[in-house]
Amino acid sequence: MDFNLSEEHLMIREAARDFANNELLPGVIERDTNQTFPTEQVKKMGELGFLGMMVDPKYGGGGMDTLSYVIAMEELSKIDASASVIVSVNNSLVCWGLETYGSEEQKQKYLTKLATGESIGAFCLSEPEAGSDATSQRTTAVDKGDHYLLNGTKNWITNGGSADYYLVIAQTDRDKGHRGINAFIVEKSWDGFEVGPKEDKLGIRGSDTHTLNFNDVKVPKENRIGEDGFGFKFAMKTLSGGRIGIAAQALGIAAGAYDLAREYSKIRKAFGTEICNHQAIAFKLADMHVNIEAARHLVMKAAWDKDQGANYDMSGAMAKLQASKVAMETTVEAVQIHGGNGYVKEYHVERLMRDAKITQIYEGTSEIQKIVISRGLLRD
Ligand SMILES: Cc1cc2nc3c(=O)[nH]c(=O)nc-3n(C[C@H](O)[C@H](O)[C@H](O)COP(=O)(O)OP(=O)(O)OC[C@H]3O[C@@H](n4cnc5c(N)ncnc54)[C@H](O)[C@@H]3O)c2cc1C
Repeated sequence: MDFNLSEEHLMIREAARDFANNELLPGVIERDTNQTFPTEQVKKMGELGFLGMMVDPKYGGGGMDTLSYVIAMEELSKIDASASVIVSVNNSLVCWGLETYGSEEQKQKYLTKLATGESIGAFCLSEPEAGSDATSQRTTAVDKGDHYLLNGTKNWITNGGSADYYLVIAQTDRDKGHRGINAFIVEKSWDGFEVGPKEDKLGIRGSDTHTLNFNDVKVPKENRIGEDGFGFKFAMKTLSGGRIGIAAQALGIAAGAYDLAREYSKIRKAFGTEICNHQAIAFKLADMHVNIEAARHLVMKAAWDKDQGANYDMSGAMAKLQASKVAMETTVEAVQIHGGNGYVKEYHVERLMRDAKITQIYEGTSEIQKIVISRGLLRD
């Protein structure tokens, strides 16, 4: 066992940290307030290789391991979780799904653009009546011979307005239940595809979350991913890896809030001394540090499992469950340590507290992670 990061991993951490401080930090409060998508920053992240980190270089990616990806996700999320969710969706839901299960033609046509950030992707599973229970898909894809006819509504879609390509899950044969579900690559410009209004959210307000409507959208047969009926498995497998990215996002939010709270506690004085000299504050910092370090070990273990080719369903769920809990607890305490200043935008911790909450909800709520974990525990 070796807890040291390699030279390459340290360089990735440095690069992501520099980018976050130099490019994401300026304007992060304004983007949050105005719900502005970080268009310029996303473009730069694409140029630097953050949008297709794990993709094979032959498709334009960085050819890196999952550990590199979570290291970068942590650093970006310390500063701007709205930007990091864009990175997470593009890397682990869209690029990974396409590279692992797509045809060579699909990879040449779509993955090469998505991996470089020339195009942005979205992953469309959730519906008004199908959230945690993703098998209840109402969106239909009727087989018409050389194409499918797509009809229905997806909601809560990250990158909903800014994506170019959408991986859409839909029911083809209801009699077959989840074995009748398929996954498709849909282009934004196609007739019948409509982007609904942007959601006005509690947190990650710089990311654009939309409802999407599909009205008789013609999807060519060659845009189905995998065999007929593979869509549900595709979605579950893809989300299993996605959870590692969201766990790293939660870890970054927690670590970012902790860094700010520690620094603030060394400057702010009350009762004639810096507040870090009050044991109540020092103990909060100790708890935060221990919780973050424990969450980091779970996140890295899940990434390591994936890199080893081992099953990561459980370790990814454990990492997400714990890191998101730590993100909530840490950000609430970081606001507390800042006192009144914690309650205003200027000090960043209130935003991190709002951003933390989503990590307990998307890519499977904490309750769903517990279902995954308990099923794994009781399997044999
Ligand atoms: C900002 C944002 C971005 C998102 N991005 C995407 C995206 O890009 N793509 C996408 O497809 N989806 C996306 N989602 C959707 C997200 O994945 C769902 O909101 C989430 O899976 C929960 O589904 P739901 O909202 O329908 O809640 P519900 O499924 O209605 O759950 C409500 C509550 O009931 C609990 N619950 C449900 N079933 C059980 C059970 N069996 N046992 C115990 N408790 C249970 C849940 O844990 C939750 O607490 C996003 C959501 C948000 C808010």
